[in-house]
Amino acid sequence: MICKNCGHENDDRRRYCEKCGEYLYPEEDFTETTKVHKVQTVVKTDKKKVFHYVLIGMIVTLLVVGGSSIYFMNQLRVSKNAEIASLEKKNQKLTKQVKKLKQQQSKSDTSYDKEIAKLNKENKEQAQKIVELQEQLSGQDTSSSSSSSTKKSSSSD
Ligand SMILES: [Zn+2]
Repeated sequence: MICKNCGHENDDRRRYCEKCGEYLYPEEDFTETTKVHKVQTVVKTDKKKVFHYVLIGMIVTLLVVGGSSIYFMNQLRVSKNAEIASLEKKNQKLTKQVKKLKQQQSKSDTSYDKEIAKLNKENKEQAQKIVELQEQLSGQDTSSSSSSSTKKSSSSD
């Protein structure tokens, strides 16, 4: 405190001037100022404490939220990856099945084709045989009929 009387700078706690002995502040003022000072310091420390708590809380919140979000993102990614892997597996299975079915189909197709070709060949052979037999029969028929007709004609004559 600066003395009003002599201007000497005294310690804040002093009630009387160190140099001239002047009563520095009236009792009420002094108590008021100390009270105010105390309150201010309390508020300051409280503010500091609060700030620290807020800072710590923010950091903790950030850590928790960030960590959990990263964890969940990872979890999500893991589950998605698992899903993708399972889907890829299914897809592979399906492609394998399709391949198998195609192979079977082509196999059966070729086997059917072969069988059909074989049957066609047999059919043709049989048809040829039938034609031959028919020719033979018709040959016999024509010969017999011609003979009969000649017989007939000769008989009619
Ligand atoms: Zn003084």
